[in-house]
Amino acid sequence: MTDRYAVIGNPISHSKSPLIHKLFAEQIGQDISYEAIAAPLEGFAATIDRLRSEGYKGCNVTVPFKFDAFNCATELSERAKAAQAVNTLIFEGDKIIGDNTDGAGLVRDIEYNHGVMLKGMRVLLMGAGGASYGVALPLLTTGASLAIANRTASRAVELAMKFPDAAIRGGSYAELEGLQFDVVINATSAGLTDSEIPLPTGIFAPGALAYDMMYGRETPFMKFARQQGARVADGLGMLVEQAAEAFYIWRGVRPETAPVIAKLRTLQ
Ligand code: NDP
Repeated sequence: MTDRYAVIGNPISHSKSPLIHKLFAEQIGQDISYEAIAAPLEGFAATIDRLRSEGYKGCNVTVPFKFDAFNCATELSERAKAAQAVNTLIFEGDKIIGDNTDGAGLVRDIEYNHGVMLKGMRVLLMGAGGASYGVALPLLTTGASLAIANRTASRAVELAMKFPDAAIRGGSYAELEGLQFDVVINATSAGLTDSEIPLPTGIFAPGALAYDMMYGRETPFMKFARQQGARVADGLGMLVEQAAEAFYIWRGVRPETAPVIAKLRTLQ
């Protein structure tokens, strides 16, 4: 019998996840189905109940339901607890196991696809919303030194304080004056409105990587980084890598991501 999976969001018609998982399944030769489901805004829990009663094995969860998924899980991974959000659910009998693969996807994209090993690197994470919460622990786990900056500085400080044992700085963009980083990650949604982030010039160390979690468009951050001489990457690789991590959790096999990223680039 075909094992069934889905991604749940609202809206969801734009999602690339069904295509990504179809390509993974074809590559590995596994018989799975994976569909996009739009849940009503107040209907996430009911949608999960339906999927479980119909025998689905798990699902991915995207905007705006990652927090609902966190709340409906009966067990949580450490990285889901740190993220306070869940993007992958596994249905096992009575259990609903919640995980978050966004951070692992980001780290894998930076380290393996862009060739920047993060241990010992000075990393700046911009933003203190859901995406930053999702990636902060996985970034710290690499051994990178982390600073977090956000438009609302208090939210960056709050996120930094979640990790009292690690030396993380949290604050405003103005406080970055005079500092340099090897990797600068844009986890804000500023690119959606073509807004510039007030980064000081000189923020990029020589050879630095500027990484924008957004994909499908050149953001003002990417333009700024290019002008400053940084190497620029978008978030398409992260999208595919977080999906590969979910596939691995469900199926126990890690698909090759490079051909899938290449295929998606041809469709952009
Ligand atoms: P949230 O709404 O939770 O947070 C938005 C963040 O962006 C806040 O820190 C906010 O600052 C900041 N922000 C918004 N507008 C501006 C602006 N004009 N200038 C400076 N800062 C701004 O969003 P998410 O964290 O969920 O998502 C952020 C981005 O990450 C999205 O674009 C999303 O597409 C992307 N993403 C990509 C993934 C991938 O796989 N590639 C996975 C997950 C997310 P403040 O606190 O001051 O409001």
